[in-house]
Amino acid sequence: GAQANADYLSGLNAAQREAVETLDGPVLMLAGAGTGKTKALTARIAHLMSTGRARPNEILAVTFTNKAAREMKTRVEGITAGEGAGMQWLGTFHAICVKMLRRHAELVGLKSNFTILDTDDQIRLLKQVISAANIDEKRWPARQLAGIIDGWKNRALTPAQLGKSDGAAFNDRGVQLYAQYQERLKALNAADFGDLLLHMVTIFQTHPDLLEQYRRWLRYILVDEYQDTNVAQYLWLRLLAGGHRNICCVGDDDQSIYGWRGAEVGNILRFEKDFPGAKVVRLEQNYRSTPHILAAASSVIAGNKDRLGKELWTDAEDGEKVRLIGHWDGEEEARWVGEEIEAMVSGTSKYAKNRRNPRSKSIEQEFERLAKAGKLRGAATPEQLFGILKAQNSPFAEFKTRKLMWELTERRENDLPLAPAFQKFSEEEIAIMVRASHQMRSFEDRFLSIGLPYRVIGGPRFYERMEIRDAMAYFRVVISPDDDLAFERIVNVPKRGVGDKAMQGIQVIARQNGVSLKEAARIAADEGVLKGKARTGVAELIAALDRWSSMAVQQIRFPGVDDEDEVIEAEGQRSELSHIELAEKILDESGYTTMWQNDKTPEAPGRLENLKELVKALEQFENLGGFLEHVSLIMDNESEEHGAKVTIMTLHGAKGLEFPVVFLPGWEEGLFPSQRSMDESGLKGLEEERRLAYVGITRAEEVCTISFAANRRVYGQWQSQLASRFVDELPVDHVEVLTPPGLYGSQTRGMFGGGMSASFEEKVSRADAYNSPGWRRMQERSGQRGMAQPKEGRHVVIDATATSSFTEGERVFHVKFGYGEVMEIEGDKLTIEFDHSGPKKLVASFVKPANK
Ligand code: ATP
Ligand code: MG
Repeated sequence: GAQANADYLSGLNAAQREAVETLDGPVLMLAGAGTGKTKALTARIAHLMSTGRARPNEILAVTFTNKAAREMKTRVEGITAGEGAGMQWLGTFHAICVKMLRRHAELVGLKSNFTILDTDDQIRLLKQVISAANIDEKRWPARQLAGIIDGWKNRALTPAQLGKSDGAAFNDRGVQLYAQYQERLKALNAADFGDLLLHMVTIFQTHPDLLEQYRRWLRYILVDEYQDTNVAQYLWLRLLAGGHRNICCVGDDDQSIYGWRGAEVGNILRFEKDFPGAKVVRLEQNYRSTPHILAAASSVIAGNKDRLGKELWTDAEDGEKVRLIGHWDGEEEARWVGEEIEAMVSGTSKYAKNRRNPRSKSIEQEFERLAKAGKLRGAATPEQLFGILKAQNSPFAEFKTRKLMWELTERRENDLPLAPAFQKFSEEEIAIMVRASHQMRSFEDRFLSIGLPYRVIGGPRFYERMEIRDAMAYFRVVISPDDDLAFERIVNVPKRGVGDKAMQGIQVIARQNGVSLKEAARIAADEGVLKGKARTGVAELIAALDRWSSMAVQQIRFPGVDDEDEVIEAEGQRSELSHIELAEKILDESGYTTMWQNDKTPEAPGRLENLKELVKALEQFENLGGFLEHVSLIMDNESEEHGAKVTIMTLHGAKGLEFPVVFLPGWEEGLFPSQRSMDESGLKGLEEERRLAYVGITRAEEVCTISFAANRRVYGQWQSQLASRFVDELPVDHVEVLTPPGLYGSQTRGMFGGGMSASFEEKVSRADAYNSPGWRRMQERSGQRGMAQPKEGRHVVIDATATSSFTEGERVFHVKFGYGEVMEIEGDKLTIEFDHSGPKKLVASFVKPANK
């Protein structure tokens, strides 16, 4: 290739350089987050090529995600003047193994065009295998068997390698079912994900000649995120590296977060034993984050017993402390994050105003750097480069270049001189990282309604998800019976025996009579055009739709007949069958919820969770119609595809990435750490959650904000939440506790005092936030109302549900009914006279004190 640019070496520190330049023999880079492992790995690839050690197709480079592979390829291309494009063997374990297996499929009884089963297909096939073996699928669910088999495959175990005792589950027939499943796969010319590696390991173990060939072809092996490899991946790597031993692995034991998927952090710790004489390089300088952020991450991860322990340092300027804030509930949290981001991107936030990025350069320096990297595209000045990029609508994705473009536009438009520091943040520089994907909905909703562009990584956006579209289609038909598209979507979901033919019949009737599909379906059922199951199914659906529609219209009820515990409605007001209850009824009676409850695929629980989120979203609206209108408007607004966007993703998906601004919401017991990890015996699960916290904090470059809410709806029920134990583990000196805005009153006290250990609280109470006038005001208020009660020793209930927390005559606020005044208190029930909807009796925990 062309003379490569050796600049990639001068940008490295001594330890990195050593790792890059030690081309032969095994090398292990074991180092903390942001120390430049990935950067060094990329430089190593460039170095292999530019020294002529290896051609692009002789290098095997494994990344953890396809996205990471694309990024690495782009970077290598940048360094090697395009030569990296020839890298055929750069990708994830799966991607690389598929490529290999297609060539040698016949060795495991497959044809080269084998299909790869997704999880749904896998479960369906297992169901067949289970029922063919006369096993009751209800007692021994296919999903469970899938988990067991995946576990075996992750450990590279074939049925033949397993003993009888290994099949303890499934009436001791696990291994036998596994063997039958593998036979079925072969007959179908198919492989599941686990097979890709398992087959390749088997092939290499049984065909030494072939393995030899690959060892000659793939002379250099590089692996990123090595701490998350499972046994099968490990064996595959060890087989391939066995001859030449030119293998370079990089990783961080503190970032091992896929144990639940069979990853074994032991692989990285065993490297020196597997490859005696390996050069071990340790990197300790972090180039990503400010000292405060780094200190926070180090303090949290120090809570883990099972770790090697590494020191990280940085010479970056102090920057901002990690920010910690508690909110009333998840919606408030999303609202606050939305406002913060708006302030950051518009430049009104103090963080934007104070922004001094220690790594930012002047435009001239940046231009210089791009010139060295050969990326000027013929431009002679920054202005020209900008013009070219703009004209080409360049997908030139490199971060610094986007900054450059931004700076140039900004400066040009405001006629300002070029300045060395960037001030405002761009949406592109901001990410929200959640523990569980159902947390995304409240952020998406908020961002949609304030018009903040965002993207969701690792899944479709909330309102584009299948189950959400289905549910909304039901609502649409209930509100507008003529909505044919919506009707078509739901008429056979869940299955009602309405196949293509039946649907065609209904469409013909609709056209002939000029009526909606719903009316046509009614006619088809009444007049016997539909037969059998389809007929009863459709008739029942139409009757139910009619019933729901009338409920949506009337919703009138009269007082005096109510049970005392129910909300008392004033005369002429709408009935207590709120639109929320109606929505729940529709999802229930239509069989839609049941359909997902009976579904045993791994996605089903998530879908149910999303449906609950949908119902929750309704709370902010008066009725179903208003909600549907809102969604259609915001979805329409969001057509613009290009441009800077805020990223919403899970913590698991964030590995290896970095953003100047990171929000980490939902740090609450049961959510993060997850309930499952808390229920587990032993510390394994909790330690993995803590590593996830470490991964989250270390993604942030400049501003890191952690938040938690006092109340959250979990499985449709409001719950008082305790702040996460990880909040306790933050180092006080590096944390700024923010006073939440607005409405909260006494609960604020509970949030800060309640969520944290006594010592933390004591330390925090010296923090500035506690001396602010707003804070003192709230403390006074909480003093009047009495403290929250301790629960489970260390923690204190955040939400004061105690009877004493409200007084008669107090002004209060309820999410649905708005403002009102407490008339009467009985135990935890309040009778409230609402300003707009009259008197109601409610459970106290659903009401917050109003502040006027
Ligand atoms: P993680 O463990 O999170 O994957 P990592 O160790 O792979 O982190 P990188 O992503 O390679 O770290 O680097 C982190 C940041 O530091 C990047 O922005 C990178 O460009 C920068 N960086 C790495 N090494 C250096 C260096 N020697 N000089 C300046 N910046 C560096
Ligand atoms: Mg990395």
